[in-house]
Amino acid sequence: MSFDPYVVREDFPIFKKIVNGRNLIYFDNAATTQKPRQVVEAIADYYFNYNSNVLRSINTLSAQATDLYINSRRKIASFIGAREEEVVFTKNTTEGLNSLAEALPRLIGRKLTVVTSIMEHHSNLLPWRRMVSEKGGRLIVVGMDSDFTVNMDELERRLEEGCDVLTIVHVSNVLGTMNPVKEICRLAHKHGSLFVIDAAQSIPHMPFNVQEVEPDFMVFSGHKMLGPTGIGVLYIRKSLIEKIEPWELGGGMVKTVTMESQTYEDIPFRFEAGTPNVEGVVGLAAAVDYLNNIGLKNIVEHEANLVKHLMEGLDEGFIKVHGPDESSKHKGIVSFSVKGIHPHDVAQMLDADGIMVRSGALCAEPLVNALGVNAVVRVSLYLYNTVEEVDRFLDSMKKLRMLT
Ligand code: PLP
Repeated sequence: MSFDPYVVREDFPIFKKIVNGRNLIYFDNAATTQKPRQVVEAIADYYFNYNSNVLRSINTLSAQATDLYINSRRKIASFIGAREEEVVFTKNTTEGLNSLAEALPRLIGRKLTVVTSIMEHHSNLLPWRRMVSEKGGRLIVVGMDSDFTVNMDELERRLEEGCDVLTIVHVSNVLGTMNPVKEICRLAHKHGSLFVIDAAQSIPHMPFNVQEVEPDFMVFSGHKMLGPTGIGVLYIRKSLIEKIEPWELGGGMVKTVTMESQTYEDIPFRFEAGTPNVEGVVGLAAAVDYLNNIGLKNIVEHEANLVKHLMEGLDEGFIKVHGPDESSKHKGIVSFSVKGIHPHDVAQMLDADGIMVRSGALCAEPLVNALGVNAVVRVSLYLYNTVEEVDRFLDSMKKLRMLT
């Protein structure tokens, strides 16, 4: 299918918005993405025509809402090549990782050695750090290679020394570099470790199949892939999900309860205590339909073209791009520093031109500090961004240079 971002943009009413006198340019997609009409309409349709609690009542409306909920899970699971019973709904990536830090000590039954990397978002560092500090065990942080991906020699050494859980980001939210998760997964399993992928920045942007990579766990957020906020996915491999003790207890996740004991619901329902976020699940399924319709390969190609155009247009004497020099290694994300100007000031100046970017430590302070700075400016792109928008951004950066 041919792909035209201008056609895509028609589905996003927000792009009609004027900000500070200019047409809105949204370059903050790694933080969250905009929502197409189809996603918002699917949510409205659910509320207007099917709203009911799910998996409980036997009335017709509840049966219809339950069908919608279950079919949506099937669609979302198939998007990543998973079975529906391997997909647990969470609030977001952060909740998925916190749940694992809660569940895995119980599963493994001893003090854990967890290995992670310097490239992680705080969500893939802090839950593990607290877990080992409260329950005992060790957290080991592996560094980066000169190509700004995880240092594979160091990683393998740590795995050889003994590791229970290896948890690594797929695409860095700061650098846009991509870790070789298939190879890492193979190494983890060779050395008897479980493997968690933080796929928050990859699932929205590229084809991914859990059957090909074979991670034990994977987490991502709906809001970074055109879906609503408040819905995310925790994928758990079938052979493990049967053995994991639910980390939250309450209604909807039990079959029978006496004053002494309970039996749990089937997987994955036993991991979704309380009334679930039905609108979020329905909205995420609509986002998956939308992305499938466009084709993930088209998105990969489009983002690569935009990043190339952007990096070629940046003035090297004035702007330092963090990470690899090759634009092909930045998966839709370019972070940079501007000579003599604080990142927040750069972001504010771009904002005055109607261009939304992110500045700061990007919830990955150890990584940003390892780059030798304490803040950066980040441009993060998606399917609805255009070459024309990148040109407007480059013009604003030229204007900034002339002002300094
Ligand atoms: N991991 C990565 C790599 C991210 O980029 C983010 C968000 O920016 C997260 C985790 C946390 O995602 P959320 O805030 O949706 O929980």
